[in-house]
Amino acid sequence: MGTLLEQPSDCLAEWVIATDGHAARRLPLLEMARRIISGVIEAEPQARRVLAIRLERWRYQHLDLRRGEANCMDLRLAEVLDLATNRLLGLAERPPRWTREAISHTGIDWPELHEALAALDARMPLDQVTAKAAALTAAHFSIGGRRRMFLYAPLYLSSHCVNYCVYCGFRFPNAIPRRHLSIEEAVHQAEILGQRGIRHILLVAGDYPRLTNVGYLSQVVRRLADCGFSTAVEIAPQGTLAYAELAAAGACGVTLYQETYNEQLYAIYHPRGTKCSYDWRLEGLERAAEGGMQRLGFGILLGLADPREDLAAMMRHARYVARRFPHCTIAFSLPRIYEAPAGFQPPFAISDELFVRLYCALRIAFPKAELVLSTREPAELRNRLARICITQLSAGSSTVPGGYENGEAAASGVVGPAAAAGFASTCGGWEQRGGQFPVCDNRSPAEVAAWLTDNGFQPVWTPGAGTPTAVVPTNPQ
Ligand code: SF4
Repeated sequence: MGTLLEQPSDCLAEWVIATDGHAARRLPLLEMARRIISGVIEAEPQARRVLAIRLERWRYQHLDLRRGEANCMDLRLAEVLDLATNRLLGLAERPPRWTREAISHTGIDWPELHEALAALDARMPLDQVTAKAAALTAAHFSIGGRRRMFLYAPLYLSSHCVNYCVYCGFRFPNAIPRRHLSIEEAVHQAEILGQRGIRHILLVAGDYPRLTNVGYLSQVVRRLADCGFSTAVEIAPQGTLAYAELAAAGACGVTLYQETYNEQLYAIYHPRGTKCSYDWRLEGLERAAEGGMQRLGFGILLGLADPREDLAAMMRHARYVARRFPHCTIAFSLPRIYEAPAGFQPPFAISDELFVRLYCALRIAFPKAELVLSTREPAELRNRLARICITQLSAGSSTVPGGYENGEAAASGVVGPAAAAGFASTCGGWEQRGGQFPVCDNRSPAEVAAWLTDNGFQPVWTPGAGTPTAVVPTNPQ
């Protein structure tokens, strides 16, 4: 523990007084933490939790304030606050966070990471790369000779959002029809998905604290668990205790894409709103694991930055997190921007070939990780990647809250078997309908499952069902 907790009058405390206009309010919090942790005073669990939340918030406020200018004193204060929060929450002792350093530290690279990055080079024959990725996937994700494929669907709970992410249909200034589902409406949507065969639901929500707070999300998770669904969440980054509350309610995982690891570009793409905080997002999956989440989903949004640099940073990030939480399952997704809201053109074009190489690179560097592919991509490409390295597919998705109402497909003008079965497509006019992004693969879950079965896969609907031991490795690299 940093010396500030042992000697509150040391030079760090003096530095806080000299540099922080809120020092008079904040330093007593540290003194209180010091006294509780050292056993001088006792505190009820609730008092410890409240104090931990305040120290955690102070840490990220400070990192945001000093972004790009942090000196050794800033980092020392951040470390003290980090470890004090951890101790107040009674979590296992651990080294201080090292996330920022990890994503750019080539010293932690491992041989497979070099091999993975080499696979991105266009001079490396593509079939050689895909063959390697396919062999690794078959070795770790087969059941009785058949490749296992986990199927799930997203359930959009709310399109309200306070953020300004330039690439997103839900961004605050966009004039779209917005909707926030009540608990009963969310259960109704899940029941529709259940009728279509879905048993695992990824709950997705914009960042709108008044509506999509942890109390609301926990209630949805609980109600869906009562209905027999397993859930994971793709929501704004939360504090450690909020993740713990969601895990206690039954959520098994967190998907949290960094979007881009390039901090300068990150600031440009997230000009306003809570998502401005790079560190809060970057360390979110660690807080999720400390809160008890079992599955951690990493991702970058392709099109925003140099994909090779972002992929390397994400792989280092995942390696660092996997080593800290060896009991957790690691997953990756590579969403690609096809169509952004008016006024934003993604500066980095990602060809299909590079897209395939990026997924193969992940498989080479992380042979046992779950690789997830959404309905952003067209069916033909999804089928191709499923044969190579994908282990989890979403199916029959809508990115509109309430989008699973039967009959919407007819209204949207979609034709073919998916429309006949009542499935919604947001591939055209997605903004007008209030979607987050266009959906390109409109096949129903049954159609995706039928394709999988016909092509030698074993479709799996429930987490853990038919799961080879390799899926939850002791060392998930
Ligand atoms: S990407 Fe997420 S946080 Fe950003 S505007 Fe969209 S819903 Fe909100």
